Amino acid sequence: MDRRKFLVSSGIVGAGLLGAGKAAPGLLQAETRSDFNLNLNVEDKPVAFTLPPLPYSFDALEPYIDAKTMQIHHDQHHGAYVTNLNKALEGHADLQAKSIDDLLKGLDSVPENIRNAVRNNGGGHWNHSLFWQLMKKGGGGEPKGDLAAAITAGFGSFAGFKDKFKAAGLGRFGSGWAWLLVKDGKLAIDSTPNQDTQYFTGGKAVLGLDVWEHAYYLKYQNLRGDYIDAWWNVVNWDKAAELYSAARK
Ligand code: MN
Repeated sequence: MDRRKFLVSSGIVGAGLLGAGKAAPGLLQAETRSDFNLNLNVEDKPVAFTLPPLPYSFDALEPYIDAKTMQIHHDQHHGAYVTNLNKALEGHADLQAKSIDDLLKGLDSVPENIRNAVRNNGGGHWNHSLFWQLMKKGGGGEPKGDLAAAITAGFGSFAGFKDKFKAAGLGRFGSGWAWLLVKDGKLAIDSTPNQDTQYFTGGKAVLGLDVWEHAYYLKYQNLRGDYIDAWWNVVNWDKAAELYSAARK
């Protein structure tokens, strides 16, 4: 495989994460295997997972989330999860050929010596790829349509929902994520430690909030609650509605 072909195929896989382009991992599968069998040049080894570009500029979420935090968070933190996931998968062509979702759903079948690395770095890649999409410039406001109705039905009011979601984020000791999920056909709030994904909750994510200190410390220091309050101003409710609708199918 020449370099251009490789870049194109890995780009397709990046774009295919979390939905569109379900056929793409199959494309990579064939190419990855032939490349591994035939190409011994380390420089040209395929990289199964790539860092998706941030869908807006670093300063798009100012003043609620500062540009410096976004730059370090995306380029360095998310970038490191991708790099370390790829490192963990080196020499495991069968695993490299899988989609990120299939890898995380099938952690039990990942060899024990790399299972934690895949769980943490693969989880970090999955969580952050979603997180960037759940925010946008000029976001915030309130959800609409079916999702708004389900939030009111499930939590009494939008304000009541925000309180419970904030409590989940504040209650997560150390690092992790707060989630709004569809679980057993209904909305539920949960949280996960570290980079554990929706696959540990039994639900499908509608909203996910990164409550690691790296997500807020430069601007908010130890005040996680202030970061959560500010985050509502950048939420991409259109994306959340799309995930809600897909999760109920
Ligand atoms: Mn993060």
